[in-house]
Amino acid sequence: MSHDSSASGGDVRNYVDGDWVAPTADDGQDVVNPATGETLGYVGYSSEDDVDAAVQAGADAFEQWRRTPVEARIQPLFELKPLLEEHQQELAEILVREHGKTIGEARGELRRGIENVEVACGIPTLMQGGHVQNAAPSIDETAVREPLGVFAAITPFNFPGMIPLWFLPYAVATGNSFILKPSERDPLVAERMFELIDEAGFPDGVVQLVNGSVDTVTALIEHDGIEGISFVGSTPVAKHVYEQSAANGKRVQAQGGAKNHVIVSETADLEFAAEKTVSSALACSGERCLANDVVLVEESVYESFVDLVAAEADRQVVGNGLEEDTTVGPLITPEHEQRVREYVETGLEEGAELVVDGRDVDVDEAGNFLGPCVFRDVTPEMVISREEIFGPVLGLMPVENVAEGIEVMNRSDFGNAASLFTGSGAEARQFRHEAEAGNLAVNAGTAAPMAFFHFGGQKDSFFGDLHAQAEDVVRFYTDETVYIERWPEE
Ligand code: NAD
Repeated sequence: MSHDSSASGGDVRNYVDGDWVAPTADDGQDVVNPATGETLGYVGYSSEDDVDAAVQAGADAFEQWRRTPVEARIQPLFELKPLLEEHQQELAEILVREHGKTIGEARGELRRGIENVEVACGIPTLMQGGHVQNAAPSIDETAVREPLGVFAAITPFNFPGMIPLWFLPYAVATGNSFILKPSERDPLVAERMFELIDEAGFPDGVVQLVNGSVDTVTALIEHDGIEGISFVGSTPVAKHVYEQSAANGKRVQAQGGAKNHVIVSETADLEFAAEKTVSSALACSGERCLANDVVLVEESVYESFVDLVAAEADRQVVGNGLEEDTTVGPLITPEHEQRVREYVETGLEEGAELVVDGRDVDVDEAGNFLGPCVFRDVTPEMVISREEIFGPVLGLMPVENVAEGIEVMNRSDFGNAASLFTGSGAEARQFRHEAEAGNLAVNAGTAAPMAFFHFGGQKDSFFGDLHAQAEDVVRFYTDETVYIERWPEE
């Protein structure tokens, strides 16, 4: 159905049972361009009744959708992929306006999202169960994966185009109905994607969009008609959603925050390592769960590595993400910018030395800008090396060797990702065997698995057992029934 996109101003709508409708709770908030301060639209929050309407529509649609042949269920995904590709630049520009990241990062994010649509098109193979002939005398056993009903995903602000696609394609391809509750800070790209989802030809009620904030999440978690919750966001909220969803009898997977480490061996290609470390720490202005912002450097090469990182950080161009030469955009809100600036002050009070100071960055826009900040001589006890900052702030720390680096990183409460730069196979093997994180990269700054591998962390970075993407999420969205058949020979 046609709809005036609020990406060009106006109120953000819900998409429920194939119709565009306004959320009905009394409150809501402006959607603001973090580079310019300009108001882009208004997102109203969804009430309990709005959530209930979506759950009822999803439950009704599920009865038919679960019986729809799997080959027919993936046809709308085959339609959706080229639609997302044709509109990739337009979606990227919406994403930059509401989030602030650079246009190249926005295009890349959408590409990583589309990969999940591609992988979910393989669901006829991915959701196959198993069969054992002669499992017992005269008995054959067959395991079948079946969809469960209505699922909801609650997603964060930092990858508003990609993260919904870690879940949506798999939930519906396996035969479930799906409700997305995107971040209220940047809901416009999800709304535009749902216009494309509408065009792709899913039956009404199979895929729905419900905007809102905390109360809307509570309504989803407490609704008896929802089978399970997929969540991505900060650790305190992930833990809360995990506990409350479980208390309400739901399946739940909850991905949380991070504090990622890079270890640099004296055997590494130092220039390459510095370039990748800086881009990992500063991409999306450091607002990434994969940002590597604690760098543990073997002391024999520490001084030269500090110089290389400082030079690389100085080369960054801070500005509006729509300008092609910008490499570091604004932070999401003025309040978040203030919070990150307070972390910089804390680092100074704790005694770390600020070798690149982006606090007075000069940008010709009214947005929430902070330039790259690089600390040296950070220690494991400092707040800035323990807490997630979620800004363009990087800390360097000398360590005696790679083994000490692994030992320091393993003391972290978080376990999302880590990288080792090395020229030694033995060090790489030690890292692979001993480092405690869900995603480990060797000679790569960002450990982001492709869509055909699962994505999720460990320790306080993840609550649950089955992660996002690929086979894990297929298991999350299905339950296995085992048929035990006995046909004695006559
Ligand atoms: P957030 O936790 O503030 O919000 C995430 C979602 O939860 C939003 O949809 C929001 O509306 C909802 N929410 C917020 N507070 C809530 C509450 N009290 N009760 C119920 N729902 C609530 O996170 P954010 O600031 O949008 O995103 C940044 C965080 O997400 C960072 O910590 C980052 O590391 C993390 N993140 C993790 C991953 C991962 O895969 N582990 C990926 C991306 C982002």
